[in-house]
Amino acid sequence: MRVPVVAGNWKMNGNRASIQALLESIRAGFSREWESRFLVCGSFPYLDLISRLLQDSAIAVGAQNLSEFRAGAYTGEVSGEMLADAGCRYVIIGHSERRALFGETSQQVAAKFLRAQEAGLTPILCVGETLEQRQQGLTLDTVREQLRAVADVAGVDAFRHAMLAYEPVWAIGTGLTATPEQAQEVHASLRERIAVLHPEIAARLPILYGGSVKASNAAELFASPDIDGGLIGGASLDAQEFLAICRAAG
Ligand code: PEP
Repeated sequence: MRVPVVAGNWKMNGNRASIQALLESIRAGFSREWESRFLVCGSFPYLDLISRLLQDSAIAVGAQNLSEFRAGAYTGEVSGEMLADAGCRYVIIGHSERRALFGETSQQVAAKFLRAQEAGLTPILCVGETLEQRQQGLTLDTVREQLRAVADVAGVDAFRHAMLAYEPVWAIGTGLTATPEQAQEVHASLRERIAVLHPEIAARLPILYGGSVKASNAAELFASPDIDGGLIGGASLDAQEFLAICRAAG
C-alpha cells in the first residue's frame, strides 16, 4: 500500500561541478525497475541546476528549508512558490539541525509545513529525540509532541500530502544508527498517533527513518513494517552508497 521512499539530504555541500558529477553517476547506475520514490534535496542556489540535470529521470528534487512567510519584505528568505518554480516537489521541514542550530520553533515548523503545501510541495516533516531525551525515557513523548505541534495547526487531512521522517538526533551524522527495533517502535507510535485521528491517512503516510543510514544497514531497517524508506544524509553524497540504498528500497 505504501511505496518506499529514498530521499537524499545533501545539507550544505557541493558545487556545480560536484553536483553534476554526482548526478551523472547516480543516473548511470539507476534502474527504472526500482519501484520506489526517489528524491534529492539540494541547496537553494543549485535547485534549478539539479532540476535540469534530473529532467526525464525517476528522481525528483527537494529543498532543505523554506520561509514561513509567503512573499514580500523578508530579506534573505526563500518562499515555497520559489522552490516550486525552481522545480522542487518536496521540502524538508523541521530538520533537527534547523531546530537546534537556528532555533526553529515548533510554531515556525508548523507555519513552514503550511507554506509548503500552499505552494504544492510535499513537506517531509522531521521529528526526533536527543540522546538525553532517550535516556530519560522521553523518546515517544518528544516525537509525538513535535508531530502534534504541526497536526494541531495543519489538521490531520494535511497529512494526505506529507511525509514524516523519524531522525533520532543522536544518530545524525554520528555513525550511530537506531536498531530496526528502536526505529520501528517510534514509527509505529507516530502512525498510531495519526491513526487515532484518521486511520486511512495513517495507513498511507510514508514514515522515513534517518540517522546514519548506509548501504550496509538500509535493507535491515527498511524491512520493518512501519519504516517506509529513509532520509539519507552523508551517504547520499556518495553515488555508489546512495544507489545501494535505493536498490535496498526498490
Ligand atoms: C540527515 O541529516 O537527515 C541525516 C539523516 O544525516 P546522516 O544520514 O548523515 O546521519
